[in-house]
Amino acid sequence: MTQHRFLLVTFPAQGHINPSLQFVKRLIRTTDADMTFVTALSAHRRIANGSSMPRGLTFAPFSDGYDDGFKPGDIDIHHYMSELRRRGSQAITDIVMSSANEGRPYTCIVYTILLSWVAKVASELQLPAALVWIQPATVFDIYFYYFNGYKNLIRNSAMTNNCDPCHGVQLPGLPLSLKSRDLPSFMVDSNSNPYDFALPLFEEQFEQLGKESKPTILVNTFDALEPEALKAIEKYNLIGIGPLIPSFFLDGKDPSDESFGGDLFDKSKDSAYLAWLNSKPKESVVYVSFGSISVLSKIQMEEIAKGLLISGRPFLWVIRENQKNGEKEEDKVSCREELEELGMIVPWCSQVEVLSNPSLGCFVTHCGWNSTLESLVSGVPVVAFPQWTDQGTNAKLIEDTWKTGVRVEPNEEGVVVGEEIKRCLDLVMESDKMRMNAKKWKDLAREAVSEGGSSGKNMKVFLDQIGDGSFLA
Ligand code: UDP
Repeated sequence: MTQHRFLLVTFPAQGHINPSLQFVKRLIRTTDADMTFVTALSAHRRIANGSSMPRGLTFAPFSDGYDDGFKPGDIDIHHYMSELRRRGSQAITDIVMSSANEGRPYTCIVYTILLSWVAKVASELQLPAALVWIQPATVFDIYFYYFNGYKNLIRNSAMTNNCDPCHGVQLPGLPLSLKSRDLPSFMVDSNSNPYDFALPLFEEQFEQLGKESKPTILVNTFDALEPEALKAIEKYNLIGIGPLIPSFFLDGKDPSDESFGGDLFDKSKDSAYLAWLNSKPKESVVYVSFGSISVLSKIQMEEIAKGLLISGRPFLWVIRENQKNGEKEEDKVSCREELEELGMIVPWCSQVEVLSNPSLGCFVTHCGWNSTLESLVSGVPVVAFPQWTDQGTNAKLIEDTWKTGVRVEPNEEGVVVGEEIKRCLDLVMESDKMRMNAKKWKDLAREAVSEGGSSGKNMKVFLDQIGDGSFLA
């Protein structure tokens, strides 16, 4: 097999960095390749603080001009994205050129979503580039259709759905009827939303892919999880190489991965929550987390608190510092004492460790793709509480395709009230069927990444394609 040398570029957000790191670790395990991990300094600082890294992996951080990190709501995101592109392009070019001059050329550049400019830089440097799609294959397909002839159908269908709640759109090769709440939010929300930067970036990505003949896209999913979606679009070769989860939680083989999730980004030094979980009966605890970005309104936080209290089950709830809508006293969740009698509130935790604790009974999740995969891999059923981007589609898949959870229904003001949260918690905690389904996916996920499993085989095909020069030649 060819000796590969990869450069991986990823967006500096936790949900992008976690699967990217798992991807590079897996590539190193499979090929012994050298890997250079490129992201912005702000994210790199926090990675380097914690995790132990395999031999062959080096980091080449660059400054995107926001070295202290950024909060999406607090900056001019258009300016941020253009700086990231300008400075990132320069950094990649410098790294590739200097390595070539030293006689150690790269053989391939891999990059994750929102960074389609990386493919352009790669082409200028005459290197093959591959996209690692860190959302489900289903979401890839929906974006593809949106930018390839189905935009009006999707938008009209979403509008009709607002008047006729039963109306959904069906797209070729996807066994789903998608209502507006099931579609990626950037497609259906009004243009005035602060995230209007996102859709043009996806569009650029699909234009870029459209120029290539049958590109291979590495998807953080596995064959058994999305068999139709991986095959729906003939002109692309979508291959499942996931789930990109710390291997310790899949096969127990790499203990250096064990505390992985918590090693990144503001790790709470206090792991008292693990001891607390260990003291709870099997499958009794509700874990609540909305990922690393979403900020819920004060009203919504109060309703979650109410739901947890009336449900009466022990819970572990992650309330990030930056989820508190500022630090004002009046913004803090009320009835904190009552809450802490029943459960624990932490600013961060090692989520994969929490999910794999035997005490876990249910995960109330925003359905970020990493959290969704982590719930499947751990065999934990969920209350799906999506917020934006791909999360509505992920919630649809959880509820209707994989049948491992129930989706909350917001009221007319868009708030999910406490009684509704209790209703969903009761359904999930008391459903043997959902728990059994979750266990089924747990086993299938392990099978996919085991020796001879589909994800390993797919990865090998990809590596052979680069090796024999047929990849993006
Ligand atoms: N995470 C964690 N501890 C927390 C909350 C989140 O380790 O307290 C990790 C989680 O395991 C996942 C990532 O952060 O890997 C969040 O990614 P996801 O795609 O679920 O959501 P995003 O943060 O991108 O909205």
